[in-house]
Amino acid sequence: MLHTATGYWIEEAGAPEPCAPLEAWTEADVVVIGGGYLGMWTAWHVLERDPGATVVLLERERCGFGPSGRNGGFVNGYWDHVPELARRFGLDPAVRLAREADASIRAIGEFLARGRVDAWYRAVPQVQIATAAAQDGTWREELLALRALGHGDELVELSPRQVQDICASPVFRGAAAQRTAATVQPARLAFALRAALLKRGVQIHEDSEVRELEQRRGKLVVKTRAGRVTAPAAVLAVNWRTLGWPAFGRELSAASSHIVLTEPVPDVLAEVGWTGGEALADCRRMLHYFRTTPDGRIAFGWGGGRMNRGARHDPHLDVDPEVIERTAATLRRFFPALEGRDLTHAWGGPIDVAPNRLPIYRSSGALHAGWGFTGHGVGPSHLGGRILSGLALGVRDEVTTLPLVAPPKKHFPPEPFRATGGALIRSAFIRKDELDERGAPVDPVTRAITKLPKLLGMNLPR
Ligand SMILES: Cc1cc2nc3c(=O)[nH]c(=O)nc-3n(C[C@H](O)[C@H](O)[C@H](O)COP(=O)(O)OP(=O)(O)OC[C@H]3O[C@@H](n4cnc5c(N)ncnc54)[C@H](O)[C@@H]3O)c2cc1C
Repeated sequence: MLHTATGYWIEEAGAPEPCAPLEAWTEADVVVIGGGYLGMWTAWHVLERDPGATVVLLERERCGFGPSGRNGGFVNGYWDHVPELARRFGLDPAVRLAREADASIRAIGEFLARGRVDAWYRAVPQVQIATAAAQDGTWREELLALRALGHGDELVELSPRQVQDICASPVFRGAAAQRTAATVQPARLAFALRAALLKRGVQIHEDSEVRELEQRRGKLVVKTRAGRVTAPAAVLAVNWRTLGWPAFGRELSAASSHIVLTEPVPDVLAEVGWTGGEALADCRRMLHYFRTTPDGRIAFGWGGGRMNRGARHDPHLDVDPEVIERTAATLRRFFPALEGRDLTHAWGGPIDVAPNRLPIYRSSGALHAGWGFTGHGVGPSHLGGRILSGLALGVRDEVTTLPLVAPPKKHFPPEPFRATGGALIRSAFIRKDELDERGAPVDPVTRAITKLPKLLGMNLPR
């Protein structure tokens, strides 16, 4: 098994030739810092809003080599958040947000179709399956709330029989399916977006880490090792590295997620009847997510990776053999028919965790930032790009007024308490998930620790 930081999708897609680093002093209407989905969709939407704008995008490594090129490829929206959002912000904004997120899921498919890009985009439901008695009906509160709000058709309950028809496994029980979702080959999408930006005239510079930012006479001067860009507005789209930016860094923490990939096993997929490409996940707090590929592989991920301390990059964020071993063991437990079949690849990446699991868009002067996808950024980053492009151009519209923009602040504790507290809570969630799966009682200490985030006004993890 090849265990790397960047993983299979980037290898399969074939990385494009790098763009030259920034080595000049230049000007732009908008400068974007970070070449993942969020930064690239922001650049895209700046041009959608103002086709004449000049946009410079600065990426510290290579566009799409971070989580945007390594994720599970689940493209999903926000209906599961609607009951909670309705309580906090009112029904109208909550439903508006879910509708805009659905529009983004469709828009990603349309973007690929228009460009005739085969990024394996497939509109499929996302099915969240109970794999232990303790997980049965974990979706019911959301389902009933959505029904009461008049949107019950967005989340459909499935019986154990219906689940086995989608995909047979000895551990699968009942489920709930979100109807609007899709899957995609993440790196193919990232590289297609990069190519489309270059075609539209966006100046992309790779190997161009932004090291300093200065406000000067109403403009921002963004500096890299060998160059600088002056612009009236800048967008910060650097995922978990937002931790290193004092204006925003207290509103997130960083953990990691990891994936294993099987060799092509179309015969196993046929045997378990998983031939519809549905995006599946379990109902753990630290969830497993799994999908298939056109050549019949299973990509199987787990959100139980370790916490990171501060903005320093811990290698465990990308390559964590212990987490991969546990992930592979669960894959084989879910699919005993994989006996004797190989795993070919493993990889991982950082996750930017927001206090309420929803991304945050916030401005500090002329710097506009987005972060906090909490493992759900593939579809939502398209909407994020619409939001940040609007903020950068000073537009007030249907997306820049969504409840994700400038929400009330909720800070994580400072380091070292953020990382150590996070690690304690993470291991309690994992312990509870495992005890639940064995049908064993959960000890009072573990139970109490899993309740801490809620007591602190946070809604973690998943
Ligand atoms: C293993 C894994 C599985 C996942 N699965 C899913 C999934 O199935 N569905 C889903 O919706 N989400 C998933 N996610 C989350 C999703 O991948 C992210 O939310 C999304 O890619 C975030 O995009 P981004 O642009 O914010 O971040 P990134 O892709 O990390 O891009 C940020 C970029 O900023 C650059 N950068 C950082 N600092 C600087 C600087 N100072 N100067 C210049 N550039 C800088 C980085 O090099 C990076 O390229 C997963 C994540 C992981 C790790």
